[in-house]
Amino acid sequence: MTNKEFAEFLLPNVKHTWEEYEKMYPERNLPEGAIVTRYAPSPTGLPHMGNLFQNFMAMVFAKQTNGVFYLRIEDTDTERTVENGISKILEALKPFNIEFDEGVVSETEEKGIYGSYIQSKRKDIYWAYARKLIEEDLAYASFVSKEELDEIRKEQELSKQRLGYYGRWAKDRFISKEEAVERIKNGEKYIIRLKSPGDFFKKVVLNDVIKGKIELPENDIDEVIIKADGLPTYHFAHVIDDHLMHTTHVIRGDEWVSSTNKHLQLFQVLGFKPPKYAHLAPLNKNDEGAIRKLSKRKDPEASLMYYIENGIPTEAVMLYLATITNSNFEAWLDANPSGKISEFKFDFKKANSSNGSLFDLPKLLNISKNYISRLTKDEVYDKVLEYTKNYDTEFYDLLIKYEDYSKSIFNIEREQKKPRKDYATYADVKKQVWYMYDELFDKYFEKYDFQKITDISEIKTIIDSYINEYYDENDDKDTWFNKIKELCDKLGYASDMKEYKANPDIYKGNIADVSTVIRVSLTSSSMTPDLYELLRLMGKVKIKERFSKIN
Ligand code: GLU
Repeated sequence: MTNKEFAEFLLPNVKHTWEEYEKMYPERNLPEGAIVTRYAPSPTGLPHMGNLFQNFMAMVFAKQTNGVFYLRIEDTDTERTVENGISKILEALKPFNIEFDEGVVSETEEKGIYGSYIQSKRKDIYWAYARKLIEEDLAYASFVSKEELDEIRKEQELSKQRLGYYGRWAKDRFISKEEAVERIKNGEKYIIRLKSPGDFFKKVVLNDVIKGKIELPENDIDEVIIKADGLPTYHFAHVIDDHLMHTTHVIRGDEWVSSTNKHLQLFQVLGFKPPKYAHLAPLNKNDEGAIRKLSKRKDPEASLMYYIENGIPTEAVMLYLATITNSNFEAWLDANPSGKISEFKFDFKKANSSNGSLFDLPKLLNISKNYISRLTKDEVYDKVLEYTKNYDTEFYDLLIKYEDYSKSIFNIEREQKKPRKDYATYADVKKQVWYMYDELFDKYFEKYDFQKITDISEIKTIIDSYINEYYDENDDKDTWFNKIKELCDKLGYASDMKEYKANPDIYKGNIADVSTVIRVSLTSSSMTPDLYELLRLMGKVKIKERFSKIN
């Protein structure tokens, strides 16, 4: 029996030969230096922040080189695959505007000529290449059972030898073709293993584009390439797919570094040029001084839904991820506050190489504050509307009812050179302007805190005098401010802070105390945006009504 016949017997009915597949997946026609990369999740659950970070990097590097970023679904571990796994991945990434140029588009659609981009649909391809290895005596059928493997491991432990199915331990290597055929005909189950040509005592070098040079021992384990269910292992599928899809850069978690010797070996035995590898360290968290991995289980911010549910702009999340991709992005953003991620040139060499980046939620929220402050009032309105539609129908209804009024509120200290930075999330908006809506004021009002001035009759004197003698809706800001000063002079409060500091004893208080009384009477809050604007928006009727509640 020839090797070719043996290969056909082990992996029958393949539609195409590997040579044909080579032709069916031609080189890509891309500019020099274009990066072709992919997100290759297993559909086993929801992507988390670490995955988003990986997606972010892959997308920006592909974009900035006019390359290709594609989505490939690695579903060869059928036991771990969850129902609607593809939709779950796509839906979780969608709000973050991760754009795939190619690959899986939905549970049923794909785009691009290098498909299928779903591994379970590529069985024929993996078989064609496994056949090539069998023909070249670089792979064989293995029958070893789990129990036998356990035995081997025990023996290796006892004799203090390196664990694994390699060298003399890999005894199925020595089964003749004829015996293998016989056993298969008798109904024995088999898998296909690589006949590793590696020598553990020699080194292989991985030149990681992020981590630099890493030396690994050559792989001498006879890795499984085709499992008993006919599907490939991750190792084999990765190598075949990234070869045929012409991936130039594999950006993946650094838990794979130690397997890279296997992958480089597979590229070599198959006669393929390996891609470049960019291994990412996991995201870390500062947990009360202790640095540990960001955990899906312990840290709500590791979940992508956290950002949606809390109204944190996904654009701000992406800006934050840009700062951890390349730390010089932050200085660039400070210098170009309205700069777009696409305008920045990212560099693998400036990525954090080994320790893992610290995922710092307060910093992300700070970026978010800056981001929201630069939106127009209409953008804020639309975004808050979108957020409240799902998460706060009470506020949503008011936004619909009072659209223009709401936009005017959002416009206070906005669309100007130094906009007010008061919202880190879209959920913060209601928390900060609720008092502007009578419906919310009546419902949520708790108490007034006038701060320095506590005597209620004095408070009434201030607001009565103000509304009856001074306030005029038509005043411009200067006139309005001068009138507050006049009010202070009349009632015995210092209208000038310097003067007050020089002679505090001759005054009842100062202009800040008086403004606080007006502000708190209107809003119940001592922290609000510009008082002049608030008064203008409320209008005289509402102002009087709010003042009348004080007694
Ligand atoms: N399916 C693998 C995983 O989810 C992909 C690793 C890779 O990007 O190659 O970890």
